[in-house]
Amino acid sequence: MKDKNCIFCKIIGGEIPSAKVYEDDKMLVFKDIEPKAKVHLLAIGKDHFGFISEMDSSREELLKYMFSKIPGIAAENGCENGYRLVINQGKDAGQTVFHLHIHIMGGETLPW
Ligand code: 5GP
Ligand code: ZN
Repeated sequence: MKDKNCIFCKIIGGEIPSAKVYEDDKMLVFKDIEPKAKVHLLAIGKDHFGFISEMDSSREELLKYMFSKIPGIAAENGCENGYRLVINQGKDAGQTVFHLHIHIMGGETLPW
């Protein structure tokens, strides 16, 4: 499902350009426009929902699939020594785009 006002749905649809590093029928991975680490990718599913609280069985399958793909995609994009995954949820986490996305950050030793 798509949301016509969502910037990540527009990226999936090609209305907004992005630096894609991986795409298939279920998911897309592209470079964050304001990288907060040497490597900063965003993995999104091709289903518009914002929160893990909106989980159902097909979204569970989608997230499982995305997590199965992420290690290879991270390794191929400069994160062979490790990476951090972040999913911001809601206001206190600073979530700004309400299409669920997994930040993939690495390419350097990350501060903690
Ligand atoms: P959030 O704060 O919601 O977890 O993360 C949203 C992320 O999307 C931010 O890191 C921000 O830099 C990135 N972002 C927002 N708009 C765009 C865009 O149009 N293109 C790309 N590539 N990244 C975007
Ligand atoms: Zn969306």
